[in-house]
Order: sequence, then C-alpha cells, then structure tokens
Amino acid sequence: MSHSEDCLFCKIVNGEIPSAKVYEDDYVYAFLDISQVTKGHTLIIPKDHFKDIYETPSDVAAQLFNRVPIVAKAIKEAYQPIGLNVLNNNEEPAGQSVFHIHIHLIPRYGKGDGFG
Ligand code: 5GP
Ligand code: ZN
Repeated sequence: MSHSEDCLFCKIVNGEIPSAKVYEDDYVYAFLDISQVTKGHTLIIPKDHFKDIYETPSDVAAQLFNRVPIVAKAIKEAYQPIGLNVLNNNEEPAGQSVFHIHIHLIPRYGKGDGFG
C-alpha cells in the first residue's frame, strides 16, 4: 500500500489519526469531515496516496468514483438530507487543502443549511 509519511489522510487510513468511519473496503475509506459543512459531510479517499486528480491513475479514480453512490446512499439513509453535493477540489486555488485526493459528499437540508 503506497502512502506518504506526512499525509494527514494516509494517517487516517492507517488509523494513526482517529476518524468517524462511514464506509470502508479494500480500495477506499470514507469518513466524516472534521469541519462538517453540513451534518453528515463525508470524504471518500483511495487507500493509496495520490495527490490530486492529475496524479491519480484511471483505475484508482474508477474505484474511487465507483464508490460514490454506495456512500451517498449510506448518507441518505443515515441523515435523510433533501439533496447532496458531490465535489472534488484540485490544487490550492480550487480549495484543495489536504493533498491526498478526496471526494466531498455534502448532504443538503434546504436554505440556511450552511453550504452554497
Ligand atoms: P479540501 O479543502 O482539501 O477539499 O478538503 C479537505 C477537508 O479535510 C476539509 O473539509 C477539512 O475539514 C477536512 N479535514 C482536515 N483535517 C481533518 C482531520 O484531521 N480529520 C477529518 N476527518 N477531516 C479533516
Ligand atoms: Zn496520503
């Protein structure tokens, strides 16, 4: 399993930093975002370390994006939002702050839910 020593999300995958798990399989790990833009805000990451969409091989990206519906359904069931945004930030000007590729799933609850 390739990982980067200094990467926060690699440490989360390895269990060195605690996280609230939403979903896990051999390829991906999903956990609650520490900042919770809205209730149930979740991140999905590949277990292997890749910086962003440009450095992620297509087969890894396929596994990662393939899991989005599974995690989306788990969130819908757990939190019963009325909508859901799926988002991937690449490079700092686009809002990326952790440089291990991740997909945000942001449940929506209507006007004033804190996002958008
Ligand atoms: P980005 O800004 O790179 O698209 O998203 C990184 C996300 O990681 C942010 O929403 C931020 O709240 C979240 N985050 C940063 N540090 C931690 C942490 O230690 N644990 C968890 N669960 N999320 C984190
Ligand atoms: Zn990493």
